[in-house]
Amino acid sequence: MADRVKKRKRTSTARRHDQVRFLERFGSIMPSCSFCYENKSECVASDRYDRCLPCVKAGRPHCDVHGVDLRPFIKEKERLDAERQATLKELFANQSKLARLEQQSRALEAKALAAFRRESRLLEEEEAAERAAASSGAPGAGASSAPPTTLSPFDPSLLDSAGGSFG
Ligand SMILES: [Zn+2]
Ligand SMILES: [Zn+2]
Repeated sequence: MADRVKKRKRTSTARRHDQVRFLERFGSIMPSCSFCYENKSECVASDRYDRCLPCVKAGRPHCDVHGVDLRPFIKEKERLDAERQATLKELFANQSKLARLEQQSRALEAKALAAFRRESRLLEEEEAAERAAASSGAPGAGASSAPPTTLSPFDPSLLDSAGGSFG
């Protein structure tokens, strides 16, 4: 009798075999678990056991023959929806910002182009005047003594006089 108390740890194969035998004896045909449904196999299960026979035989750790906990799906769906909403909001905000920046960029280009054209016109006029002065042969009116007429540093006031306005 003493040696019956000292139980050896049974192998998983033996335990699975016991589960199979248990379900073969105690189980009855029930609405299929998803595994049996997919495999079109007879779902034999017991109210007292959480896995059906085919799932035990297949070594599947989980069987949903006694129902599925739907709460994780609900929770995850809510999390995804919330994140999606937040991302959409961010996206719309960024789209508006991008549109604003592009509009400002176009306005700046138009003003800059107008300023450049105006400067080109002034430069051409000054160069024409210099050429006229040089060809008239007046002493001391040569190019070497002419004041520099190169492009002046960028003058922001040109932007204001070039028409249009910033958003
Ligand atoms: Zn099953
Ligand atoms: Zn199952």
